[in-house]
Amino acid sequence: MLKRKFIIHTPEEIARIRVAAHLTALARDQIAASIQEGMSTKELDMIAGAIIRSLGGKPTFLGYGGFPANICISLNDVVVHGIASNSQIIQKGDIVSIDVGVTFDGATGDTALSVYVGGEPDADNQRLLDGTRLALEAGIAAAKNGNCMRDLSGAVEKVGQAHKLGIVRDFVGHGCGIRLHEPPDVPNFTTPGSGIKLLPGMVLAIEPMFNLGTYKVYVEKDNWTVRTADGKRSAHFEHMVLIGEDQTEVLTRG
Ligand code: MG
Repeated sequence: MLKRKFIIHTPEEIARIRVAAHLTALARDQIAASIQEGMSTKELDMIAGAIIRSLGGKPTFLGYGGFPANICISLNDVVVHGIASNSQIIQKGDIVSIDVGVTFDGATGDTALSVYVGGEPDADNQRLLDGTRLALEAGIAAAKNGNCMRDLSGAVEKVGQAHKLGIVRDFVGHGCGIRLHEPPDVPNFTTPGSGIKLLPGMVLAIEPMFNLGTYKVYVEKDNWTVRTADGKRSAHFEHMVLIGEDQTEVLTRG
């Protein structure tokens, strides 16, 4: 059987995906509002699990490929897939990235954001957060019927470059909706060729992962935690979008 290059969701699926994505956005914002200095990431993860269940959902990441926590919590030089622990305490000046997946009624939402803890970020941290968030918005604006994947990836990449940030290449966005990870890949950088055409019914998780230093990353011995190669900080913002005939809907706006 040929592996599908992308998925066009049916109207019935889209109705369920819309609900799951909305719950995921609510959970993300409630979890973000719970972040406090002095809290362990394990405490935050337990709060996240309780929030997701209180909304009637299931934490998608728990047990996904063996992942051992409710959500991903990635501090500072951790790019993505950080695992909560009792010994990791959130401190003033940290960048905390939360990546939240919620499964509801056989559909899946996936969204992420990074927050600066306590006070105003310095210029570098501000550039990192602004550049990554604005790149996501640029990607959303380019994610429309008739464009190709290169338009989307190029829009994200351009903002990253303008902010002089390292654009992670080893991890990319993805189709999403029924399963957590569906085709196609949604890269944050361009490669030769235009890529697939974006078509109505596609649901894409756009998720720039940008670094203050090198784009290079490595995976720790726990086989999950992804860190920057130079120890500099990273940020991560993610929304799910539905490509429509005439307009694109951000499903995780909240
Ligand atoms: Mg994702």
